[in-house]
Amino acid sequence: MGVLLQWMLSDGSKKRKHSVNTAVIVINSVYSNDCLDFFNQKHMSAFSNAMQQLDSAAKKLGLDAVVVKKLKEPNYVHEFEIPMAMDDGSQKTFKGYRVQCSNARGPYKGGIRFHSQVDLDEVSALAFWMAIKTAVVNIPMGGGKGGVSINPKELSQSELEKLSRGWVQKMAQHIGPNIDVPAPDVNTNPQIMDWMVDEYEKITGDTTRATFTGKSLEHGGSEGRGTATGQGGFYVLEELVRALGMHTDGTTVVIQGFGNAGYHFGVLARVAGYRIVGVSDSKGGIYDPNGLDPEAVMKTKQEKGSVINYESGIKLTNKEILEQECDVLVPAALENQITAENATNIKAKIVLELANGPTTPEADVILWSKKIYVAPDVLTNAGGVTVSYFEWDQNLKNEHWSESEVFAKLEPIMKDAFKAVWDAHKQHTVDLRTAALMVAVQRIVDAMK
Ligand code: NAD
Repeated sequence: MGVLLQWMLSDGSKKRKHSVNTAVIVINSVYSNDCLDFFNQKHMSAFSNAMQQLDSAAKKLGLDAVVVKKLKEPNYVHEFEIPMAMDDGSQKTFKGYRVQCSNARGPYKGGIRFHSQVDLDEVSALAFWMAIKTAVVNIPMGGGKGGVSINPKELSQSELEKLSRGWVQKMAQHIGPNIDVPAPDVNTNPQIMDWMVDEYEKITGDTTRATFTGKSLEHGGSEGRGTATGQGGFYVLEELVRALGMHTDGTTVVIQGFGNAGYHFGVLARVAGYRIVGVSDSKGGIYDPNGLDPEAVMKTKQEKGSVINYESGIKLTNKEILEQECDVLVPAALENQITAENATNIKAKIVLELANGPTTPEADVILWSKKIYVAPDVLTNAGGVTVSYFEWDQNLKNEHWSESEVFAKLEPIMKDAFKAVWDAHKQHTVDLRTAALMVAVQRIVDAMK
């Protein structure tokens, strides 16, 4: 990212603001074509994947080049150092980010990721996808994403708290209930959101708690947030199965990634009558054509460290699990899992993306040529951000909704989003991802006008 930043700083951008004192760099509209070229040079660049998706939707919509350029430019990029005193008395600094992509439809919304691979490319892509996601489900929010380049497993609890509070100290003047509302993402959780909202309150005096979502229930969190992503994905599956004339009973499902999203989805799917025939985690997978009980498999994972220690089924690698016989394949782990190398081997009729970015653009083309329906991440996993929006709404109204109220509000939102995407797919004869992008981009462009 050094090259990119140097370019940004040496460019005489009219709108650029650079505050050395706070070590926050705020740059408006900096992603010129040179910058986009830089991102595009990166192999499997998440941002370049996102821009390819945007280009294909924009082409179908017949959007003006000026509008497309504007959509590609995040409103603000914040890049800063977080200095910290470590437990052993040493001083370290960590690189923090917040990309505020679009607020045309409402305050920026999106998680904060703590991971060693966090960089500006990844955060920019995720911020763009958040803008798309909130538009697909038609909630009054925009898109943003943040992060810190750090392996949080190397930090003690007190260091993790300092880092979380440090991120807020750098960003407090740029976030707020009506400006930017962050949430948890990879390696961040309700405890971290509680520290962050407390730090924000100390700095600004704001007591609404609506600046962060994904908080614990005791600190203003929402019922149902923990299971919302799996629940939302399940509603999308039900709609897609119906639209394709398939049946629930006995339809087989493989889930790659048996964490929060994958596990809760698996439990709901099995109760509804789907047969879960394969699951995996970071250590590998198991496959049993007779069906697996997700709750029993999770018990084994918790007690023995991995799903591979479950008593039945054959053991497989994560590569192999993707290529097994099944009707529905659910990537629920990481980015870039279905690629040009393995897409031809996928046997499922539906790929239901609970993970963010699991399918590369090249794989999308291959899957669509095989008439495999990919229910895209920006639709399928949007239940999480929708319940985050409910949390924000509850905080601002000083209300607390029951879990059944939350899901009663979530279901029609997910089903309406599916219908809009399905209708666009039929009308324009495009795959579901392009259809979702078209629906979202049109809504953002309308709001920009
Ligand atoms: P998690 O950490 O709870 O679970 C991830 C699971 O994936 C774990 O079981 C882990 O062992 C497994 N895993 C890691 N590497 C793997 C590999 N190479 N192959 C197979 N499995 C592997 O995370 P989560 O919250 O369930 O998130 C999973 C995905 O869903 C991420 O892409 C995330 O961005 C996306 N997502 C989650 C939410 C949410 O609310 N949890 C919302 C939107 C999107």
